Amino acid sequence: MSKVKAYGAQSATSPLAPLDIERRPLAAEDVQIDILYCGVCHSDLHTARNEWKNTIYPSVPGHEIVGRITAVGSNVTQFKVGDLAGVGCMVDSCGHCHPCAEGEEQYCESGFTGTYNGPVFGGENTYGGYSQQIVVKQSFVLHVTHDVKDLAAVAPLLCAGITTYSPLKHWGTGPGKKVGIVGLGGLGHMGVKIAHAMGAHVVLFTTSAGKVADAKRLGADEVCISSDPEQMAKYANQLDFILNTVAAPHALDPYMQLLKKDATMTLVGAPDRPHPGFEVFSLIFKRRHLAGSLIGGIAETQEMLDFCAKHGIVSDIEMIPMQDINTAYERMLKSDVKYRFVVDMASLK
Ligand code: NAP
Ligand code: ZN
Repeated sequence: MSKVKAYGAQSATSPLAPLDIERRPLAAEDVQIDILYCGVCHSDLHTARNEWKNTIYPSVPGHEIVGRITAVGSNVTQFKVGDLAGVGCMVDSCGHCHPCAEGEEQYCESGFTGTYNGPVFGGENTYGGYSQQIVVKQSFVLHVTHDVKDLAAVAPLLCAGITTYSPLKHWGTGPGKKVGIVGLGGLGHMGVKIAHAMGAHVVLFTTSAGKVADAKRLGADEVCISSDPEQMAKYANQLDFILNTVAAPHALDPYMQLLKKDATMTLVGAPDRPHPGFEVFSLIFKRRHLAGSLIGGIAETQEMLDFCAKHGIVSDIEMIPMQDINTAYERMLKSDVKYRFVVDMASLK
């Protein structure tokens, strides 16, 4: 066991503060990573504050991890000491159920083991990336091929990148498709960049009038202020796919109306309370679909990282020291992030 410095919450109402955690000794399949940067996902906040009612304390969030490998176990063939590496939202799964066999470990029938907050179906706690070091089995570690100077801005790809890439690809985003992205936060801004790189015509829906110029710079072809019914009406029956990344309960109907016949809106935002009821007729009359999607498998995460490296895509980040995490959470709640906070782990030393 090795003791490392971390930041975490002791209860739903206590701010994040320094604590020491133990990392397991290196097993044969394990890779030990010195964490250099960790992105700040809205899921970290949901978990630290027990908004999903499943948090095990102490809670050390962080699942957008990049760093350098400092040791490898005797059976590790895919990585060597000195390599750059990434870790996303999962660190284990059963490995033999149908979804795992298909490389979609996020849908593991026994529940994957989260990078933080332990296995989905209960058990020991796991501690995430708001820490100096992590030990992860090699099959859940990603290769980072971006230039090392972009490393901090690569971190958010490990959750925000894959959570948008996977559904965009699954629902056929590409040339000739008009794709809506709802919400310009951490996930949404990656969704805009990736959908644009996939060749789609991208419409960004935002509640923040101040984000219009940024959305266009990030790759949106059009921007709609979602609180303005006149602007929304322009897109009725126009969109081939909508990816909804909003972190708070909101009316879904106004967005369903924007889908073409047979088109889908996929929810990735995971608010702590249900969305207000939606009208079945917005589905029935145009055979529309409402769907959900969870991060992405390990193989697809590597594919996404390679896609982003090839297209020169990284996250737009604001770097913070670990000590500023509680203020960062408050700003995230006010949609005041441009567009992902990333913690510089050097600040933990
Ligand atoms: P974020 O950076 O806080 O962005 C959320 C965006 O939603 C905001 O920037 C804002 O965009 C919009 N928004 C916030 N409150 C709103 C409201 N009351 N009404 C309408 N729009 C609102 O959060 P994130 O890190 O991107 O995460 C978004 C959600 O996805 C969270 O619930 C997170 O837990 C979840 N998540 C899910 C998965 C998955 O696998 N499905 C993975 C990661 C995260 P505008 O200012 O542009 O309106
Ligand atoms: Zn996340």
